[in-house]
Order: sequence, then C-alpha cells, then structure tokens
Amino acid sequence: MKNPQYSLEATFKNQGIEQMLTNLTGVSRKGAVAEASCVTCKGEASSFRDALSKKEYTISGMCQPCQDEVFGVSED
Ligand SMILES: [Zn+2]
Repeated sequence: MKNPQYSLEATFKNQGIEQMLTNLTGVSRKGAVAEASCVTCKGEASSFRDALSKKEYTISGMCQPCQDEVFGVSED
C-alpha cells in the first residue's frame, strides 16, 4: 500500500453497469475513487462521517455532501 492514509478502491461492478455510470456522470467511477474525487460534484472526497459513508463512496463515488443530498442526513 503506497499511501496508508488513503486505501479506498472502487468496488467491482459489471462492465455494462460501469460503462453506463461512466456515460451518466461523464467520469470514470473507478478513476474518481482512485483519486479521491466525487463523481457528482467533482469535488474532493476525502472525509466521511462514518465507515458506512466511506463504503458508500466506494460504491457510488459520491462525496459526503453529495451522499447527504441524495440519501438525506440522519441524525442519531
Ligand atoms: Zn460531491
């Protein structure tokens, strides 16, 4: 592992789905996750609220604010 601070990797997705997402967002999800950027706002995706949000990032490629916007913020 080159950088222990950042070791996230995009989860595997079916090639067809991967292509569809790339077409949809205009960026490669894998590429975005690899460089810690958000596929939705193109911003930096470096800090997450919890492990679940971090996991979600590897799936959707969305940063914390974008996840909050899409899924809503849960206060607990
Ligand atoms: Zn974002």
